[in-house]
Amino acid sequence: MKKNQIAIDGPAGAGKSTIAKMIAAQLGWIYVDTGAMYRAMALYFDRKGTDVNDEAAIDRDVDGAAVELAVVDGTQVVRLNGEDVSTVIREQRIGELASWTSRYGSVRSKLTELQRVLAEQQPVIMDGRDIGTTVLPDAGLKIYLTASTAVRAKRRYDELVEKGVRDADLSAIEKEIAARDEQDMNREISPLRKADDAVEVDTSDMTIDEVVARVIALYQER
Ligand code: C5P
Repeated sequence: MKKNQIAIDGPAGAGKSTIAKMIAAQLGWIYVDTGAMYRAMALYFDRKGTDVNDEAAIDRDVDGAAVELAVVDGTQVVRLNGEDVSTVIREQRIGELASWTSRYGSVRSKLTELQRVLAEQQPVIMDGRDIGTTVLPDAGLKIYLTASTAVRAKRRYDELVEKGVRDADLSAIEKEIAARDEQDMNREISPLRKADDAVEVDTSDMTIDEVVARVIALYQER
């Protein structure tokens, strides 16, 4: 068991990255956002014009993308072939494309490998869909973070409204989240599921601070 690894998995919008960042700051560890890596790969295929329905095309193009995570002035940045793509990968369209292209074995093995290298170099808290089940199976603490679809959609909606988006549509967001979960949970390779030894934390009725306190307490108990 690796005490210096925490794995956080769960569906879209459960609060994984918010929680993981806060815990990393408290423990003085590195936070690794694996979803950002899948998003950067999707952006690469999008720009290159790869036919994302053709696995042979994906396999052919996958090695042209160098994905890197770096910390600049305390903030995590994602680089694709040297370019900082941290902002553009947040587009909803890229999230949806990432969910599609993350089904392919060549994409998963490339990123899994990179993620394991990062975890060997330093203590990490890593979030994603398959961290506890596949990437870091020996992680000292595994959390499966969930919340009801309605709550996750409302959180995302509030975020958009706060950013000044005027035409945010709650029911469209809820549908998109449900579709993404469905796709992530039902793919063949490393689908999203709770690892047998993960602790499930349902955040539907919890504040961010309560969730952080709960995870830290679980970590200290180990
Ligand atoms: O978490 P985020 O929304 O940024 O992830 C984008 C997509 O990347 C997910 O919907 C999922 O399909 C994929 N992903 C994955 N495995 C991970 C992290 C993300 O398949 N460890």
